[in-house]
Formats: sequence, C-alpha cells, structure tokens
Amino acid sequence: ELSERITNITAGGSDGWDTFYRARRMIADGIPVTELNIGEHDIRTHPDILNAMHSAALGGHTGYAVVPGTDSLRSAIAGRIQARTGVPTTAANILVTPGGQAGLFAAHNAVCNQGDTALYIDPYYVTYPGTIRSVGAVPKAIITTPDTAFQPTRAALDSAAPGAKSLLINSPNNPTGAVYSRATMESIAATCQQHDLWLISDEVYDTQVWDGDHISPRALPGMAERTLVVGSMSKSHAMTGSRVGWVCAPEHVINHLINLATHTTYGVAGFVQDAAEFALGQGVSVEETVAAPFRRRRELSLSVLAGQNAVRAVPAQGAMYLMLDIRATGLSGEGFANALLDAEQIAVMPGESFGAAAAGHIRVAMTIDDDRYVAALKRLVAFASE
Ligand code: PLP
Repeated sequence: ELSERITNITAGGSDGWDTFYRARRMIADGIPVTELNIGEHDIRTHPDILNAMHSAALGGHTGYAVVPGTDSLRSAIAGRIQARTGVPTTAANILVTPGGQAGLFAAHNAVCNQGDTALYIDPYYVTYPGTIRSVGAVPKAIITTPDTAFQPTRAALDSAAPGAKSLLINSPNNPTGAVYSRATMESIAATCQQHDLWLISDEVYDTQVWDGDHISPRALPGMAERTLVVGSMSKSHAMTGSRVGWVCAPEHVINHLINLATHTTYGVAGFVQDAAEFALGQGVSVEETVAAPFRRRRELSLSVLAGQNAVRAVPAQGAMYLMLDIRATGLSGEGFANALLDAEQIAVMPGESFGAAAAGHIRVAMTIDDDRYVAALKRLVAFASE
C-alpha cells in the first residue's frame, strides 16, 4: 500500500481540469487550439541570463551547492526585498528553494503540525489545498466574492481564524488579478495578530501590478516576526523552468527550514543560482521588460470588453490573468469553457478549477502575442454574446 499522505493530496478532486486535458488532446491530434489556459510567458528567459548560467556551469559551478543557497544570491534576494518593502532583511532571512511551489511546501512545513488547520483564500492557485495536505495539515477556505473584488473581508477572516495555525494569501492574485489594498492587508495583519496565526504571503507576482501598489504584509507593524514570504524568479524574470525561488522569514524559521532542505531538496543547482543572482543584479529593467506585455494586454482586454454584457471583466489589478464573469450566458464556467473549446478552439480555464468562489467565471491567461490575443478575445466575446 502506498502512503495515504500523498494519495490525500488530491482528495478534493481536480474538478475543472477536464477542459485543460481535453485541449491538450486536441493539440496532440493536430487541431490548432488557441491556448489561453496556462500561466507561462510567451517570451523565453533573456539570453543574458542564459549566458550567465552557461558561464557559471562552464566555470565549474556544477557540484553540490550550499543547501540554503549561495551567500551572494541570498544577499541579492534580501537586498531586493529590503529595497521594495523597507523592511531590514539579510541573507539570514532567506532560504533559496527550487521555485515558489517548493517555497509554499517549505513554508507550510515550517509552521504546521499534523492535523493543524491551514487557511487559504478562495479563489486560489490550484495547488494550494494539495500543498497544505501534503504536509499533513487540513486546508480550510475563506470564500471571497466578486462584490468585494475578491478581497477577503475582516468578518470572513475573523470567522475562519479561531483555532487555525496559518493563513495563506496571494496578492497579486492568481486567478482573480486582485491586488490587496492596504486596508485588506491591515485586516489580514489584525486577524493574524488577534488569533496568533502565521501568515504565508505568496508574492510571486509582485512585479506585475497594474493599478495601485503591491503591499507586502511583512512590512506592516508587528508582522515581520510572523510572516513567511514566498517569492520566485519564475514570473518576474520569465524563468519558470529554472526552478528558483525563496522563502523570506525570521532567521529562526529559516534555520528550521534549512534542516528540511538538507533532508529533501538539498538545495538548488549552483549555476541556476548564479544566473538568478545575475538577473537580480540587472535591477528592475528585466522585471519591467517581462511585465510589459501583460500590462499592455490587460489594457487591450479592457478595450475589447468595454460595454459588453455577456462577458464582464473582473477588474484585474495585477498578474498575467483576466477573470471574466460569464454568468449572464447562463452557463457554468466549465460549461462555457467546454463549449468555447468546441466552437472556437479556444482553451480557457473554468473558474471552478480555482474554487467555489470563482464559479460562473473563466480565467483567461494573457500569454500569447497581442494580435492573436485580441483576435481570440473578440471571438470569445462574440461566442458569449450568441
Ligand atoms: N504561486 C502562484 C500564485 C502561482 O501562480 C504559481 C505558478 O503559477 C506559483 C506559486 C509557483 O510558481 P513557481 O514554482 O514556478 O515559482
């Protein structure tokens, strides 16, 4: 018998992924599907970053790397965080991880015991409940609604919090595009302090903010000692395949996690770390180049969708996605996504795959070139209006 702990990861099922796999089968059969369903950039990692990786590998950084990350990369990540948030941060606050996903796993492992309740916000990034289950904790959703632009309210936070161990948030948010306001972050901080929760803040989209500012809750009074920030080079630097991210937390939490990393991942490839350090050394220029197409396509989307009734955009303030409310068509998100795939060969994600709160919505990833993107969005709108 295999372990229940792993079987249980997907105990909640994987509803809504049928359309994704159906689209993949159609592509394998040679049908030209326009894929607006995955969070992968349409650009590649910048050649200068790849050259840095190549030189580091040829220069001999191919052996075991130090488990918590190289001192210089940890310092570069700490410097970036301090520059963005003003919170004093050093290399001792950083564990380098194989991507943000491993950071989410590590962060929950750091604070949750078997059977602890770990809160997360619905709609959510698809792996959240499974990641929580993988460490033996019990996921509990806090539902947000379109009426509050998918920002959690203090009342919802407070009613879920008693007895819980941790709260996982994600701003800018996948799938909704919500960027939590200062008031929302202050409510989150107040709830965490009142109910003694650890806060795990997934900030992998921190460079993709179209309206307002990204507020890191670690910068709010009293929060640095109870917050674990998860970051990544994947989305900010178009380095999804390099698998390099981090956890930023109080030093004693990082030391706790180094013990885990020593017995699991044993660190991240040295030449990848050197490339990440090079990329961070370029300052914001690479980040802005990578974010620019999404900023542009978000504007293009709003002009295509202006005045439409069958499809309404949830105001996306950040990230590379657009949530569309298709309730006026009378279809579920899944029904709409399937029908759109059949009629127009356009693949989107049904809202239901991101939780109960996103039912009646679809998520569009703005991850193909502008002309094809606008053409596909227009076809989607026409289809919904029919
Ligand atoms: N968190 C969110 C909200 C995401 O959307 C993703 C990837 O899509 C991740 C974390 C994981 O990213 P990675 O492991 O590539 O850093």
